[in-house]
Amino acid sequence: MAAEQLSDQQQRDLHELLLRRYRLLTQMLRNELHTDGSDAVQATAASDADWTTADVDADLALTRVERDQNELNAVSRALARIDRDEYGKCESCGAAIGYARLLAHPSATRCLACQAQQETASKIASQRSRA
Ligand SMILES: [Zn+2]
Repeated sequence: MAAEQLSDQQQRDLHELLLRRYRLLTQMLRNELHTDGSDAVQATAASDADWTTADVDADLALTRVERDQNELNAVSRALARIDRDEYGKCESCGAAIGYARLLAHPSATRCLACQAQQETASKIASQRSRA
């Protein structure tokens, strides 16, 4: 079941979606980094018990920042692919990724079949490294 190539209108919709996501993530990251900074100042005056909490909070904040940063990178790459006219093509097999999948994951770089294959391969790899 091959997905359809994107129409101009669909490509414009997805471009708009990516730009909005980009702005939102940039803003969220700015807020997260700002919050992180003020927490660190408070933590210097805290007791041992508070230190532990502050560490956990900082870890959580860091995880969140990392996740948002990763998504921001993916969104930037998707926007760059639109500029190069490569957007919506699977980077593994070159087939159309499809509008429905891109609406759900605008920064997707692989078609569903290749993504599933990739996930299976990395699951097997991580099971092997644990064994
Ligand atoms: Zn593919």
